Amino acid sequence: MKFQIYLIDNNGRLEWKITSNIEVDLAYWYEHGVSTLIATNSFFSIGYANYLLKCLEQITNTAKASISNNFYQDIDWLLENCSVGDKKCSVLKLSTKSENEQIMAIDQSWNHFAPNLQGRLLLLSEVIQLYTEVNSVNKLSRNELFKILQLGYLRNEIKITPSVTYPLISHVLYNQNELICQRCGSRKAVKIQECAVCGDNCATCEECIIYGRSKTCTPLYDFSSLARQKASDVKFLSFDSIPIRMPQLTPFQSKVANFALQYVKDRKKKDLLIWAVTGAGKTEMLFPVINHALISGSRVLFTAPRRDVIKELAPRFKNTFSDVPIVTLYGGSEEKWNDGLLFLSTIHQMIRFVGYFDLVIIDEMDAFPYHNNPRLHLLVKRALKDNGQMIYLTATPPNNWQRRIKSNEIESIILPIRYHQYPLPIPHLKLIPKKAKLLKRKTPNKVIGQFISLVEEMNGQGFIFVSGVNEVVNWTNKLKQWFPDEKIEGIYAKDHLRDYKIEMFKRGMIRFLVTTTIMERGVTVPNVHVLVIGAEGKIFEEATLIQIAGRVGRSTKYPHGYVWFLAEYLTSEMVSAKKQIKRMNKLAKKY
Ligand SMILES: [Zn+2]
Ligand SMILES: [Zn+2]
Repeated sequence: MKFQIYLIDNNGRLEWKITSNIEVDLAYWYEHGVSTLIATNSFFSIGYANYLLKCLEQITNTAKASISNNFYQDIDWLLENCSVGDKKCSVLKLSTKSENEQIMAIDQSWNHFAPNLQGRLLLLSEVIQLYTEVNSVNKLSRNELFKILQLGYLRNEIKITPSVTYPLISHVLYNQNELICQRCGSRKAVKIQECAVCGDNCATCEECIIYGRSKTCTPLYDFSSLARQKASDVKFLSFDSIPIRMPQLTPFQSKVANFALQYVKDRKKKDLLIWAVTGAGKTEMLFPVINHALISGSRVLFTAPRRDVIKELAPRFKNTFSDVPIVTLYGGSEEKWNDGLLFLSTIHQMIRFVGYFDLVIIDEMDAFPYHNNPRLHLLVKRALKDNGQMIYLTATPPNNWQRRIKSNEIESIILPIRYHQYPLPIPHLKLIPKKAKLLKRKTPNKVIGQFISLVEEMNGQGFIFVSGVNEVVNWTNKLKQWFPDEKIEGIYAKDHLRDYKIEMFKRGMIRFLVTTTIMERGVTVPNVHVLVIGAEGKIFEEATLIQIAGRVGRSTKYPHGYVWFLAEYLTSEMVSAKKQIKRMNKLAKKY
C-alpha cells in the first residue's frame, strides 16, 4: 500500500494529510468546503510518507506559510528540503469534487465495521483478516476496505502510522535505539534490511514477529478513538443489573472485595495492589468489582502472564457472568477477533489493543514473564484507557512494590488469611550434604527418606522441587533407585509429556513429581506436600519459595502439610521466605 501526501487550507489552518486513496479525500473535503488539495505526484511507503509528513508539518509551522503566489515554489522547496536520496518530488493542484453518493456508501460500510475495530491496534494484514472474519456476507473488495479506512482517518477516528520508525542514515550510524516498533514498543530487536516490498531501507521488529511482521512499510492502525464511548452504549444491551451467580465470600474476602469496590467507585487513584496470601481465593474476591464495572458500562480486562491461568479461570468467569459477552484470548485462541465486555487474556495478546479498557486486573503481577519486562508493562498500560484503573494481584509482591506499599505510594490492601482460615504451613529448613555426593549414594539419604515416609503415612502426594532440567533427570532416576516401590516422575517446561504427567499427578496416579519451578504456581492438588532439594540454589528466591510453600494445605479437607527446604547451607532467601510466611500468619490472627 502506497501513500500520497497533500496539503489543504482548512478554514485558514494549513494541514498535511496522507492518503492511500485520494478519490475519498477529494470527495470528503468537497463536503467540508475545501476546494483544492495540493498533493505530491509521487507515492511513498507509509514509513517514508509519515517521515515526510512530520518534516513538512514542522517546516510549515515554523515558516507560518500561507497560500500565496509563491506557494508552489515554497512547497517544492520544502519537499526537496525533506528529500532523502533521490526521492525528490513535486506537487499537483487537485480540485475537490462532489461524490456524495460514494461517501454515503462508504459511510454505511464504515458504521457497520467500526464497532469491531474499537480499541484495536492492528497491522494492515490484521485489519484485512478481521474484516474477512466479521463480514462473512456482503464482502467488499479490498479497494473498498481501503476507502473505508481512509474515511475513518479523515474523521480522526483512526490513526495511521508506520509499524516501525523510518530508518534514516543517522539511525544506522548512531542511534539505532531510536528506531521503535510502534506495535510492541521494542527498540532492541529492530533490524534494518533491504525490503522487497517497499524497495527501501526498511526496519523490521524481530520481537513481535510471531504475531505478524511489523515493519516500516507496514501501516499500523490505531482505533483507540473509537473506544471512547461507553462499552454498553456501543454494541451491547445496556445493563441495569447483570444476573450473576456470585460465589459465597468469607468475611475476610468480603473486606477486600469492598475495598476494591470503593476504589473503583471513587475513581480517585489509578493503581490498587491486593496482596493476598496463596490460597486466599483472589479471583472470586474480584467478582463484585467486575460486576460493578460491567453494570456501569465499563469494559474489563482480567489478564495474567501465563496461558494456563487464563484457560483455568475462563470456566469460572463464564459460570459467574453467564449473560456477559466474554472473550478469552491466548496464543491460538479462536476468539481472536471477537468483541465483548469482559476479556480474559494473556498479557502478550494485549499487543493488539490500545486505550480500550476502563478496568484492568492483572493477576500474578510478579510472575514470569511480566515481572521485570518493561515491554509487557507497556502493553498492559497501553490497553488501558487514559482515565482507566488498574488492580494488581499478587501473593508475593516484588521488593520495589513492597517499598511502595510501605511508603503509601500506592493504594494497597493485605489479605493474610486463606479462604479456609487455617494458617499457612511454615517451611522447615534442613541441612543436607552436597547434592553431587548424595547423587552418588546407593542408599537413600535419611532426611529425604523421612519426607517420603511421612507423605506415605498421610496418604498424600509430593512435589519435589529441584533447580533445573538436568537435576530433574538426575533426581528422578536417583529417587526411583532409592524408592523402587514409589510412583515417581519428573517434568520440566519442554517435556513433551508435561501436560499428561500433570494430569496423572492430579489424578493421584503419580505420587511424587520431581519438577523445576514451573510448578511453583497454578496447579492445585488437595493433599500435597513439598520438598525442595538444593534450596540454596539461585533460582529459589524468596518469592519462589513462598509460592512453593503455598502449594500446600490449600484445600479445606487438607489444610495442613509438610514444607521442607533442604540445602547445603541456609540462604537469606530461605530465611526471609520463612519469616514472611510467619509474619502473614501473625497478621492473620489479628485480622
Ligand atoms: Zn515489535
Ligand atoms: Zn519495506
